[in-house]
Amino acid sequence: MKIVRAETFAQELPLARPYEIAFKRVDRVTLHFVQLVTSSRLVGLGAAAPTDITGESSEACAQALSDMGHDLLTGKDPRHLPALVRALRHHMPRTPAARAALDMALYDLVAQRAGVPVVDLLGRRRSGLATSITIGILPVDETLAEADECVGRGFRVLKIKLGHDFAQDLARLRALRRQHGPQIRIRVDANQGYTSAEAQALHAQAEALGLEFIEQPLPAGAVDQMRSLPDECAPLMAADESLHDESDALALAHASPFGIYNIKLMKCGGITSGLAIADMAAWANLHCMWGCMDESVISIAAALHAAYASPATRYLDLDGSFDLSRDVATGGFCLRDGRLELLNKPGLGVTMI
Ligand SMILES: [Mg+2]
Repeated sequence: MKIVRAETFAQELPLARPYEIAFKRVDRVTLHFVQLVTSSRLVGLGAAAPTDITGESSEACAQALSDMGHDLLTGKDPRHLPALVRALRHHMPRTPAARAALDMALYDLVAQRAGVPVVDLLGRRRSGLATSITIGILPVDETLAEADECVGRGFRVLKIKLGHDFAQDLARLRALRRQHGPQIRIRVDANQGYTSAEAQALHAQAEALGLEFIEQPLPAGAVDQMRSLPDECAPLMAADESLHDESDALALAHASPFGIYNIKLMKCGGITSGLAIADMAAWANLHCMWGCMDESVISIAAALHAAYASPATRYLDLDGSFDLSRDVATGGFCLRDGRLELLNKPGLGVTMI
């Protein structure tokens, strides 16, 4: 089996619901896609959502996807996946989203060829976790209205974006807990918008508010400040912008100021690297969450296959495809009572529309 061509294209997709987080407003995304076509007529799918937190521009992502798909993968046997992924890593150090798209497309091909879902190729460990759905920074009344709508759609875990105004953030969280009682799980993400004092103050309220965890309260590089928070804070702190790839995971692992790693394929470069981070987390007795950007079902499915293959997986935050107003592919997983379930199909289980 040989890859005979790598077809790439980009699509600008409007969001059904534009949202605001600390420091920016998002109303559309440009996603990049690859189809690896083999001599035996299998098609492996991959998708990239480049993100400014890794410094990968849309243009650089498109170029790397097209060049590396052609130069490194065309003519190769996808069953040589570990060697191919090693070559991708070597040649694509600054375009992790493009690398993730090629990495997942290779897994899609190999698992299709083997006739099993990707999760079984990796070693299935679990299934059926609930995903959170994200609510952006909104006034209290709009936060409550959006939470009602999310709960009405079956979601049982809300991820609330914070980071503009601490007093307002507390008011929103108190109102949410009052409205929904203990049935709803609430996690929060400050996207680097807090000071150390605010992070500590929110931690002090976490039990009363019933917060699962506090994601990235301080700026990405403020790891020393995170380490200077009281020791009891660490288990509830989740690293997102501070954790891109395996080297960050390793650097953070010793006396980690974060009890949770938020792994995103677009930050780390794909399934292979995501699972390497999850392994490090497991050895360091840390938990993992699998998160995402605004993404196609192709890459959300890839993250879910990886998530369900790791013993360190504790949380899912894989809501990135629900807010796209359209997608180029379908399948991969289904949402049942707020939980994500993989389809029992070979490969990633996704098909182009
Ligand atoms: Mg985050």
